[in-house]
Amino acid sequence: MKPLSLQSYLFPRAVLHIDGDAFFAACEQARNPSLRGKPVVTGKERGIAASMSYEAKAKGVTRAMPIWEIRKICPNVIYLPSDYETYSLLSRRFYDIVRRFTPDVEEYGIDECFADITGWDKPFQADYVDLALKLQDTLKKELGFTFSIGLAPNKVLAKLGSKWKKPYGFTAIPFTNIKDYLNIPADKIWGIGTQTTAKLNRSGITTAFQFVNAKRDWVKLAFARPIYDLWKELNGEQIMPLFEEEKTEYGSIQKFKTFTPPSRDPAFIFAQLSKNVENACIKLRRYNQATMKAVIILRTQAFDHSVREVLFERPTNLPPEMLPRLHEAFVKMLRLNTLYRATGIVTYDLVPMLIQPDLFQSTKRAEKFQKVYASTDKAAAKYGKHTLFLGTSWQAHQFGAHLNERGDDPKRKHELFLGETKRKRLGIPMLLGEGI
Ligand SMILES: [Mg+2]
Repeated sequence: MKPLSLQSYLFPRAVLHIDGDAFFAACEQARNPSLRGKPVVTGKERGIAASMSYEAKAKGVTRAMPIWEIRKICPNVIYLPSDYETYSLLSRRFYDIVRRFTPDVEEYGIDECFADITGWDKPFQADYVDLALKLQDTLKKELGFTFSIGLAPNKVLAKLGSKWKKPYGFTAIPFTNIKDYLNIPADKIWGIGTQTTAKLNRSGITTAFQFVNAKRDWVKLAFARPIYDLWKELNGEQIMPLFEEEKTEYGSIQKFKTFTPPSRDPAFIFAQLSKNVENACIKLRRYNQATMKAVIILRTQAFDHSVREVLFERPTNLPPEMLPRLHEAFVKMLRLNTLYRATGIVTYDLVPMLIQPDLFQSTKRAEKFQKVYASTDKAAAKYGKHTLFLGTSWQAHQFGAHLNERGDDPKRKHELFLGETKRKRLGIPMLLGEGI
């Protein structure tokens, strides 16, 4: 597999979090080079430490430490009043440099920002890691101080990455290696405050990994929306809005979803994948895009991933054209008697969808499908998403991604389905055979 396509599933979205190392103190050292290598502390006007250079940190100075204590442990400290004018000037220069790499920059704080570099690998002829390192190097050269960077498929994980190694650290958290970064206390995760931590602890959850493995239904019920979103992002889903969400041209479209409880039933797992395929195709059609390549991702309960690239005969955005190939690959990937907890698809190398000329028999069939899906999309607009769906996705639609505790019992599943008549989305399955 070529490295550029590899990136499409390692980083379906390539999000950077860029964080200044001891930013205020670093600004002081950049402005006055004689301060370099010395313990610099800012915040003199308040009598406490607002920011400390790494030299001062090495002596044990911590944020908010009072001056008398600082002088005791670090007698040669250079103690300066805060100069916010300079800091914000340098902050603006920092954002400007980041904007040379992508226009999608979210200024998150005076010394930190998020940047979406998805799709910029091609024009720069560099992969995302190289691009991030180039940015880091440029910042150091032009500003005279350093930043730590996290590269990940979403904001929460990018933020985790920038903190992972400091100062001048770079940490890439590809989609398939999230697990390696979760063996930390849950409260180290951005957005998990003391209240949430206490609640998690009461339920026996102390690490980020335990939190990520908590049941979706429980997280959804027990916590407010932002924590549930956090849980989804830690699982690798892309939830938090990134800049211009309504871009009409995508480099790739991904649909990835965790389900609980985990399953070893091939039909159920494939139904989850099939539903993701339908969702990806809905988005492709909405933007009049088609794909010739996709990557299937399967994640086991132990957080191991298998991925496989699939090529289609021609650009398509119709599930019935894609599923036979995807199913072939799925069968080869699936390990028997293994519990799976998530499936996903990334479609990439997108092209504008053209109506195919009626030259071959195969395109006649495709045309039929196009008509079917034009009606499906109309029905969805009128009656709700997934009013019509494929038979292959039946189990995923029938029970949703998450069964409740008793949902494992087939009888119970049946009752659940019968009880769903009041729901808006009463699925009318589209059974399309075709050896799927
Ligand atoms: Mg910082």
